[in-house]
Amino acid sequence: MGIVEWRKQLQRGEVSARELTDQYLERIAAVDPTVHAFLEITGDRARADADRIDAARAAGSALPALAGIPLAIKDNLCTRGIRTTCSSRMLESFVPPYESTVTERLWNAGAVLLGKTNLDEFAMGSSTETSAFGPSRNPWDPERVPGGSSGGSAAAVAAGECMGSLGSDTGGSIRQPASFCGVVGLKPTYGRVSRWGLVAFASSLDQVGPFTNSVADAAELLQVIAGEDPRDSTCLKAPVPDYVAALEAPVKGLRVGMIRECFEAEGLDPQVKASVQAAARHLERLGCELVDISCPRFNDGIATYYVIAPSEASANLARYDGVKYGYRAAAAAADADSLAMMTARSRAEGFGDEVQRRILIGTYALSAGYVDAYYRKAQQVRSLIRQDFDRAFTQVDLLLTPTSPTTAFRFGAHAEDPLAMYLADLLTIPANMAGLPAISLPCGFDDQDLPIGLQLIGGVLEEPRLLQLAHHYEQAAAVMTHRPTAALVA
Ligand code: GLN
Repeated sequence: MGIVEWRKQLQRGEVSARELTDQYLERIAAVDPTVHAFLEITGDRARADADRIDAARAAGSALPALAGIPLAIKDNLCTRGIRTTCSSRMLESFVPPYESTVTERLWNAGAVLLGKTNLDEFAMGSSTETSAFGPSRNPWDPERVPGGSSGGSAAAVAAGECMGSLGSDTGGSIRQPASFCGVVGLKPTYGRVSRWGLVAFASSLDQVGPFTNSVADAAELLQVIAGEDPRDSTCLKAPVPDYVAALEAPVKGLRVGMIRECFEAEGLDPQVKASVQAAARHLERLGCELVDISCPRFNDGIATYYVIAPSEASANLARYDGVKYGYRAAAAAADADSLAMMTARSRAEGFGDEVQRRILIGTYALSAGYVDAYYRKAQQVRSLIRQDFDRAFTQVDLLLTPTSPTTAFRFGAHAEDPLAMYLADLLTIPANMAGLPAISLPCGFDDQDLPIGLQLIGGVLEEPRLLQLAHHYEQAAAVMTHRPTAALVA
């Protein structure tokens, strides 16, 4: 059931918010011991949220847009009074005294909080394997990763543990797990959605967005979370269009660019390539025109990202010093002879390996003598990537690529080689570099019955067109109505 159908049923009194919430809590109790999408399940809060909606309905009040919709929230979004850990020992007992703008908007719209979902530590990773609290599992095959960093949010939707969820996307962390888990994941234009209360990773790239079972549901959630926020100066003042209404606009005549460099990328699984090309032909049958496009710098995104994102992270994570926030090394007070030593110990014990690796890379790239060779150079390449997109959008309306070069991989597959893991983000990173909106949606399955995702990228604030084409493809191709069976998929 989607958000629209649910709203109708609730309005007609065919089902109560409490019944729906209880159903989801039961599903979580049944499958989450295997999936481990959740770090914390907020059952009491969820039932109270739902009861409030039912009481409002009984009193005849008009119901808000997301009345009774049970959602899960990535655990790097601050929730007042509810632990927000970023899957890190560093924040294991951090209870935020404030609510993030996006979650506040969801609760004001009547949504129900089911719990907080697992992620790679501080959103650094592509598999949830760097979570300090153990990985999540892919509902299509529990031997495989759900992707990351928002793996818990994607897995929760795929396993039927919530109707939708929020994640964050710095280099692909919404789209890649959406692709691995066979759900819809949307990264909005940089600045479309407030970052206030999102624990910062790389501030020039981070963006919050929804995971859902359908494009229409993604539009519903974006509608609520998008828009100006005086508390985030990078949040755009542009008015929020009617995303839901935009879905049905005809797609005939839309020009869709196939980025040549993506389809020729090293490491692209031939089955993924074939499936996305078949989806492109489907778009052609819907009346779209396919255009061959070159973005020569596209594949440089990854090298650029792994300078810029760690640099920003090294600055953002400096706040975890064992004094003001989070973990403080237990032995520090006794034998540390200086504040610096106490901080060093707290950071060495509080942060996992990948986070420490990023801080080291970023600190190095920003240090005197190297900043020109690395950080400034990366910013220059970032401009070139953006220019490629600008040129492309003079010829086409939207761009089409695979979301990830492969389907979900097995646990430990990249354990020995962080660089191999970084390649999982090859096709998603460029949209972050240019601040563009992009969506991943299911387009097929490989011979292991694992979902494949296609990515559509739009120009700045072109979310309506992105959602429109995605919706038309989803309805016409009906990939999920012919899905293989998997025990953990609802
Ligand atoms: N996988 C990428 C990384 O490890 C992207 C993470 C993200 O988008 N948060 O940095």
